[in-house]
Amino acid sequence: MPRYSDEIIEEVRQSNDIVDIISQYVHLKRSGRNFFGLCPFHNEKSPSFSVSPDKQIFHCFGCGVGGNVFTFLMKIEGINFVEAVQMLAERANIQLPTFENREDSAREELKAKVYKVNEFTAQFYHENLYKTSAKPAQEYVKKRKLSNEILKAFRIGYSGKFDELYRELKKQGFQEPEILESGLVNKNENGTYIDRYRNRLMFPICDARGKVIAFGGRVLDDSKPKYINSPENVVYSKGRHLFGLNVAKKSNEIKKRLLIVEGYMDVISLQQRGITNVVAPLRNSINPTTRMAT
Ligand SMILES: [Zn+2]
Repeated sequence: MPRYSDEIIEEVRQSNDIVDIISQYVHLKRSGRNFFGLCPFHNEKSPSFSVSPDKQIFHCFGCGVGGNVFTFLMKIEGINFVEAVQMLAERANIQLPTFENREDSAREELKAKVYKVNEFTAQFYHENLYKTSAKPAQEYVKKRKLSNEILKAFRIGYSGKFDELYRELKKQGFQEPEILESGLVNKNENGTYIDRYRNRLMFPICDARGKVIAFGGRVLDDSKPKYINSPENVVYSKGRHLFGLNVAKKSNEIKKRLLIVEGYMDVISLQQRGITNVVAPLRNSINPTTRMAT
């Protein structure tokens, strides 16, 4: 039986709204934050079967069944987990890797590891920002009057010296393929590893689901280039993503209008002023020469 990566399973889950799926089998009525209907798994006259769109789960207060969108399909269709994943992937037009093709599954595995490297690094940089060694960064955010709330919402961070991140990633058990693919560390001709971002204010770049796919780093002095960005890789392509979309998505305003501004700091300072439906493109906002910097 094929085994799909957690990453792709999560993508399939998030692309299939549980209310839409269950509505195909059960007549649901909204009540407050949840939906209710007659449980398809036991016999009842009054609805005790609930579906939560926020949590993307279902639960029956009568017979106790519950779970996520996969669990529901498995139970109602009498299929196994892999079949449920395949069914929902097809519905959402998601191409699942074919396991006959080894390259595909190796790529999926690498992708999953790069996401983990990125997630760890975002947290590492963010925690760094609060250390005494991050003085230049702290002064900068103070000067820009960024609140602690906004620093946390965007997980703004600080990258330190030479190979600080590299050593930390190794300590965490990450291996060379995913470390180099992430673009966060470069290896020079002498075989020395060096962090791509050093002494910079760090902006994690997330996809719409909030997964960290890349980073932007701003200098804290007058050196050039002012910004450097992650290179494109298995999880990141500039044209496909917008900076700040994961935060803007939480705003109700976004349903009416999405404002596109120039750079990271524009998004962040507008968010801080309560303008929540803002994003910035990643393609043209940065001088192309900056991509070559290490
Ligand atoms: Zn039930």
